[in-house]
Amino acid sequence: MKVGVLGGGQLGRMMALAGYPLGLEFVFFDPSPEACARHLGEHLQCDYADPGALARFCASVNCATYEFENVPVSIAERISASVPLRPGLGALRASQDRFTEKNLFNELSIEIARFFRVDNEQGLAKAAATLGCPAILKSRRMGYDGKGQVPISDDADLAVAWSRLGGQPLILEERKLFDRELSCLAVRSQAGEIRFYPVIENVHKDGVLRISRPRADDPLQGQAEEYTRRVLERLDYVGVLAFEFFDVGGHLVGNEIAPRVHNSGHWTIEGSHCSQFENHLRAICGLPLGDTSLRGCSAMINFIGSLPDAGTIAGFSYAHLHDYGKKAKPLRKVGHVTVLADDMMALEARISAVNALIRPDSGS
Ligand code: ATP
Ligand code: MG
Repeated sequence: MKVGVLGGGQLGRMMALAGYPLGLEFVFFDPSPEACARHLGEHLQCDYADPGALARFCASVNCATYEFENVPVSIAERISASVPLRPGLGALRASQDRFTEKNLFNELSIEIARFFRVDNEQGLAKAAATLGCPAILKSRRMGYDGKGQVPISDDADLAVAWSRLGGQPLILEERKLFDRELSCLAVRSQAGEIRFYPVIENVHKDGVLRISRPRADDPLQGQAEEYTRRVLERLDYVGVLAFEFFDVGGHLVGNEIAPRVHNSGHWTIEGSHCSQFENHLRAICGLPLGDTSLRGCSAMINFIGSLPDAGTIAGFSYAHLHDYGKKAKPLRKVGHVTVLADDMMALEARISAVNALIRPDSGS
């Protein structure tokens, strides 16, 4: 069976690494000559809007998926007219636009930060007067790793925020003072079976994820599962989905969904019985879902900007290095490590040992 992937970055690369033992083959549709999944399958290095390339892609695969949610819907529609696209168009439409996404959460009675649609500078002033501070101005589309966001601490910040983001559809959102950031990772099969991984606690810096720790028996597991289930069922979703939350005083506030495998789930490769990548492939290819339970304690540390010395990491028996084969660049995700341990105390000591290797100039 051949799986077509829109995008050929590290998520596609790790998907292929999980898929070969299942007998799957891969075609990556990505215009970049540097797509880091290119060594793991056929690389269709063409523009997404190239009709010939699109036809070749569809003719060569049995099903298609995507590793980023900003695939133009018109392209996704053309693909899904000829091969099964999983997750489907509804998931793409819902997650591409923060305004649509937040309205979906409201419809599903999922608590979220208050927000207003902002289409012009007067609208921003009006929204800010109603919401108060602190707030965040966010672009509705194409945001990732905190890009397209400006924090607003008082009214004096509004003009600067408008000068940076104005001219595109925006939302102004209440800035939550949260205790923790969590994500819930789930997989849903074509028959509608759902399995959840333990909730994950995430630490961000400069808008970029740095460390993810799965939490066994977290008090918010049940609520996270309930909110995530509502989204999966409403979208008749197939594959892995990540739902990002804030823990505010012991209850969940929804932030955003990612209709794909997710950076906060990379620890699942070594830290669970069946990784998010394998489970995504199992779901989209119609295979039974795999076991999402933990194999002991684990955590994932992102390498941002550049990698630490590979030899030193390889010398740590508890650490599993993933080098994405990308060029070093400030704030770019170039790799990660999964750290394993038998208990939480040992895990924290090992996380500190790996953190000590990260170069201060790498942006990590
Ligand atoms: P991602 O890298 O997850 O795709 P993104 O750019 O799509 O991120 P968000 O997840 O909305 O954007 O925001 C990035 C980070 O900014 C969040 O993880 C959180 O740390 C902070 N943030 C976003 N919205 C809020 C909010 N309403 N209140 C407090 N912090 C927020
Ligand atoms: Mg996010």
